[in-house]
Amino acid sequence: MTVPRVIPILDQRVAAPVSGHWPSAMASGLPRDRLNRPLHDLRISVTDRCNFRCSYCMPKEVFTKDYPYLPHGDLLTFEEISRLARAFATLGVRKIRLTGGEPLLRKNIEALIEQLADIRAPDGQALELTLTTNGTLLTRKAVSLKAAGLRRATISLDALDDAVFRRMNDVDYPVAGVLEGIEAARAAGLGPLKINMVVKRGVNDHEILPMARHFQREGLTLRFIEYMDVGATNGWRMDEVLPSAQVLDCLRQAAADGLLPALAPLERAAPGETAERWAYADGSAEVGFISSVTRAFCGDCNRARLSTEGQLYLCLFAHQGHDLRGLLRSGANDEEITAAIAGVWQARADRYSELRASLPAESLGAARPRIEMSYIGG
Ligand code: SAM
Ligand code: SF4
Ligand code: SF4
Repeated sequence: MTVPRVIPILDQRVAAPVSGHWPSAMASGLPRDRLNRPLHDLRISVTDRCNFRCSYCMPKEVFTKDYPYLPHGDLLTFEEISRLARAFATLGVRKIRLTGGEPLLRKNIEALIEQLADIRAPDGQALELTLTTNGTLLTRKAVSLKAAGLRRATISLDALDDAVFRRMNDVDYPVAGVLEGIEAARAAGLGPLKINMVVKRGVNDHEILPMARHFQREGLTLRFIEYMDVGATNGWRMDEVLPSAQVLDCLRQAAADGLLPALAPLERAAPGETAERWAYADGSAEVGFISSVTRAFCGDCNRARLSTEGQLYLCLFAHQGHDLRGLLRSGANDEEITAAIAGVWQARADRYSELRASLPAESLGAARPRIEMSYIGG
């Protein structure tokens, strides 16, 4: 098993920040990477722990009680996260998503949300602040999250059938608990809600239609996510990926059979959007397809990821990060931190999903050293 714990610093500019000078391309505006992609989204993992053991993310056999989760002192504090988020905002970040692990397990997460909600982009706008959760703690927390300044929530749910869902989360958690969480989030005003469903062939593909019908009736956006070869512990195999095109075929057939309204494609709302969006013709709801395996969308990927212990990752499939925590704790000032992040972004050329198809089969899945999704955040 390859579970990298200590990530070497790839780019020494982080350890020895560019002092006092902005990298040259910054002179004319916000940084672009080597593929000319701007920095727009920041995903922040606030914990590497979770109360689920989804087999595609934190398989029970690996993530046991003896698993070396990060000790508390290694985690970025809320003040450190906010300071970094402010630096990212000056470099173009407009959207922050809190993730994990299960982000709602981080103690007093509302305090972090309050700090992040105060951050302004250079034009004075607040950032779009959202969170991805398995929904189990929403009945308790939706109201306080909203009050703290969270704008929206995305909730993961892989099946409506209770037995299938209990097997997939692998801790025997009932589907009713997540449905209650979804209701609590809606009632608290955390909409428009999105529901994420990872589709694994032979495991929950028979749940595609029941899920689509349920969330269409509920008027919520359901997003189908292709099972990805992220991390090195989930035993990923290509034959377990159900391509989004087949999910769409299934929905179209259901529409032809009168089980769902017809679907029409939507224009992309923003560059770098991960999902291809479709809308039901009667305006009741949208569906999305996140097709990282069969239709790579690296070309305009504008997402940076900050791990729980303050490593900056430039790609979900990266296996090395850039040590921002070390930089923060070395006493660097805000200008140095901002310049270092800009420098790392400008050196970025990651596009793993585009390259995947050309990689030999034996180099995919566990054969590649990679960071776990629960550490880097989805
Ligand atoms: N615990 C929270 C949750 O499940 O929503 C947030 C973290 S989770 C890592 C973020 C998202 O990544 C979830 O929607 C999850 O379904 C998705 N995910 C995890 N492992 C995946 C995989 N191997 N392929 C595709 N999506 C995955
Ligand atoms: Fe936990 Fe989310 Fe991973 Fe499932 S997908 S194990 S809920 S972090
Ligand atoms: Fe972005 Fe990496 Fe995913 Fe491509 S593979 S879309 S570069 S995170």
